Amino acid sequence: MQTIIQLSYFVAAVLFIVGLKGMSSPKTARTGVLWAGVGMIVATAVTFFYPGITGVSNYVLIILALAIGGGIAWSSGKKVAMTDMPQMVALYNGMGGGSAGAIAAVYLLAAQRDLVDSGLQSVQQQMGSDVAVLAVLGGMIGTVAFSGSLIAWAKLDGRFNRNSLVPAQQIVNIVLFAALVLTGIWVLFTGGVFPIALFFLLALTFGVCMTVPIGGADMPVVISLFNALTGLAVGFKGYVLANPALIIAGTVVGAAGMLLTHLMAKAMNRPISNVLFSGFGTTGAADGDGPEGEMKDVGAEDAAYMMAYAERVIIVPGYGMAVAQAQHKIWELVQLLQARDVEVKFAIHPVAGRMPGHMNVLLAEAGVPYDMIFDMEEVNEEFKMTDVALVIGANDVVNPAAKKDESSPIYGMPILDVEDAENVLVIKRGRGTGFSGVENALFYGENTRMVFGDGAQVANKMVAAVKEL
Ligand code: NDP
Repeated sequence: MQTIIQLSYFVAAVLFIVGLKGMSSPKTARTGVLWAGVGMIVATAVTFFYPGITGVSNYVLIILALAIGGGIAWSSGKKVAMTDMPQMVALYNGMGGGSAGAIAAVYLLAAQRDLVDSGLQSVQQQMGSDVAVLAVLGGMIGTVAFSGSLIAWAKLDGRFNRNSLVPAQQIVNIVLFAALVLTGIWVLFTGGVFPIALFFLLALTFGVCMTVPIGGADMPVVISLFNALTGLAVGFKGYVLANPALIIAGTVVGAAGMLLTHLMAKAMNRPISNVLFSGFGTTGAADGDGPEGEMKDVGAEDAAYMMAYAERVIIVPGYGMAVAQAQHKIWELVQLLQARDVEVKFAIHPVAGRMPGHMNVLLAEAGVPYDMIFDMEEVNEEFKMTDVALVIGANDVVNPAAKKDESSPIYGMPILDVEDAENVLVIKRGRGTGFSGVENALFYGENTRMVFGDGAQVANKMVAAVKEL
């Protein structure tokens, strides 16, 4: 039986890796998710036959937990709006970290209980030093990721906006972290319930305090970091439980999370330390006096005619398209333009929206073929040869201040060179700034026309206008 269990865990781990590979391209992402899901089912099913799990009450508890957790995930997963996806990822990620922390707590408490019978002096001697160190490390990382992810969720959901809980928050955080590490060492070298309880309490508090000062708008990067930490914690737990599926799955999640965090920070041209400690995006303040000149607006119908009589159009979607859920209407508009022989492309900035691949997911959902969607590096040179660049709900990712204004907080971030197009149309509701809170000179440009209104409503009017031609 033991061989079958280990073999099944190995199969599950292979399925996770195959799934992850599939997720690396939009074309194969759905099948990738399915493979990983099958892997998860195999790993869960085989755990029922694990030798340590015996007794009817254990099975009843497991089935009850699966039913409650699975039921909540199923119904909330079906209902969640695309714009609320980052919050959901934060919550699920937090649950993973919490599980790793809980397993560590159970194992450390069991080891401390056994100390009494064995006559040994410390948790470390009882568990074996490598297992004990990994249990403490995994417990710490998982618990920090749990409470930190909950704060990230609350910030993203607009339920919590504070940037400090106490004065000199960063100094308090350093002291808390030092206390946490020392208590971890205390747990290893002694027995007793008190140090273990204090250790987890400090880890929970540190997770909260570490996340509070980070700007709400940086939360997606932080969630990705917590995701990596959760993976690491799960990998450590796999070692403690001698479970290869957990080791492999945890390591894969940890590595993928680290890579994603790095890529997101790089696409914003900011080191991860700046994300964690600068409080970027917390003030929402515009830099300097703002751009000079006036915004010139145009009606949705006239804007639509401009595109209908153009040869080349590039569409740049941003976070506002997700808010407006305008992707379906935009795709309808594109099809009408194509029917009039207009060449249309979509240009995607790597950090457009609020999560990696946000725009790709929305466009795929609307049915836009992948070969019409281009990454920034592929398409940036083409704006010069474009008659109309249509910006819908994007702001920071097309802000020329990133290239021209050294004092701007977004200076250095690569942007889509929309202003090089002959005409620029910008759909947005008003004069709101984007995620960084920085004013955008593009909207005041000579060749720019603002089409004010909700993204979906404007796109709807544009569709109607082109249909009447
Ligand atoms: P921005 O947040 O810069 O701008 C979005 C714009 O959309 C706003 O200016 C807003 O203006 C407009 N808008 C909002 N609602 C609507 C609506 N219903 N209809 C039409 N327009 C609307 O978005 P970008 O995509 O340009 O940039 C993403 C930003 O998020 C970058 O700064 C990036 O660094 C950051 N970020 C991205 C992450 C990712 O993984 N993608 C992760 C972390 C941060 P108005 O209010 O006037 O309508």
